Amino acid sequence: MRQHAGVGDYFETIVDVEASAEQAPELAERLLDWFLAEGIVVRGAADGHFGESYPIGPNSGRAAPEEPWAHGGLELTTGRSVFHSHDEGPLEVSCPRCAETVTLWPKAGESSAEWDSIEKVISAWYEQGTGTWPCRGCARPLGLNEWRWRPAWGFGYLGFAFWNVPPLREEFVAEVSRRLGHRVVCPSGKL
Ligand SMILES: [Zn+2]
Repeated sequence: MRQHAGVGDYFETIVDVEASAEQAPELAERLLDWFLAEGIVVRGAADGHFGESYPIGPNSGRAAPEEPWAHGGLELTTGRSVFHSHDEGPLEVSCPRCAETVTLWPKAGESSAEWDSIEKVISAWYEQGTGTWPCRGCARPLGLNEWRWRPAWGFGYLGFAFWNVPPLREEFVAEVSRRLGHRVVCPSGKL
């Protein structure tokens, strides 16, 4: 689905789930300027990365509490993308209105009728940028980002993937969200 640093690499992604396709490039630039000014990343292509990427800088502790690992870097993604977590556990979505919870995968990659149903909506969203999946609890049609995904998934036009860093600080994620002026979600995992 998207290029990545290599097998066995960890990622922590901050996804803006509200930015439009038109807003994404300018917001990416604005946040990158801030990451560079703070020394969270530095200029220069990060080792082993294929997209637009930046090596981790001297003040990465502001973003994540421990030292980055080998090949740590920030990868920027703009353009319509499905940003998914990658772990071994189940995948669930909950309705924010009535709390109806649906198990999509009992465990990683193990499909279900519910998954087959929502996957069609994900494919339609990836092609056209729109799509809803109705909640059977309250019968409301919900956009993919309205569902609460566990672990996090995000559908949008702007993502900041930090590769091979420890889990991001909550206050750092909140600061990024504040600077974007948008809600964010944080898919993570290991590829
Ligand atoms: Zn509901």
